[in-house]
Amino acid sequence: MIGTEIERLIQLLAKLPGLGPRSARRAALFLIKKREVLMEPLARALTEAAGAVRSCGVCGNLDSVDPCAICADVRRDPAAICVVEEVADLWALERTHAFRGRYHVLGGTLSALDGRTPEDLNVAGLVVRAGSDQVSEIILATSATVEGQTTAHYIADRLAECDVTISGLAHGVPVGGELDYLDDGTISAAIKERRSL
Ligand SMILES: [Zn+2]
Repeated sequence: MIGTEIERLIQLLAKLPGLGPRSARRAALFLIKKREVLMEPLARALTEAAGAVRSCGVCGNLDSVDPCAICADVRRDPAAICVVEEVADLWALERTHAFRGRYHVLGGTLSALDGRTPEDLNVAGLVVRAGSDQVSEIILATSATVEGQTTAHYIADRLAECDVTISGLAHGVPVGGELDYLDDGTISAAIKERRSL
């Protein structure tokens, strides 16, 4: 009924988080109707972003430069590193402007169920950074889920030999809460009122 190009577009859109086949069809139709003002600029933006995106060799953030803009920003406090699971969590924290240190993106959590071990996460890089004289505080901002907290305990153990204060987010992050889904005020309060572990 519809051309293969459009069928392919719908199939690819349906792979996006939050979009099933039905909403992918709606999105495709919307794009086609707004071909000049949305579809073509979007296609260009996708191509450019795909060509430009880099993973920061220091912190694991995604940016078009390596080191990323946060790691390269001399106005940011080099003494504090906030450890997050995913880039989405880093973005959520940045939206609040509550934290002016730097980050470390683990790339997930430990999970016996999914077979994710410490080797699958960017922990070794964090241990090296925590060993630097510049760094005095590590804030563990993993999710308030079982896996997030297991990961936080594991990292705290790994950093035991380093001369750093280890802190966690304050209460207010609901159990089971993932940072990216929280409102900015809750995230902001949680990092400002962080506590030593
Ligand atoms: Zn970085």
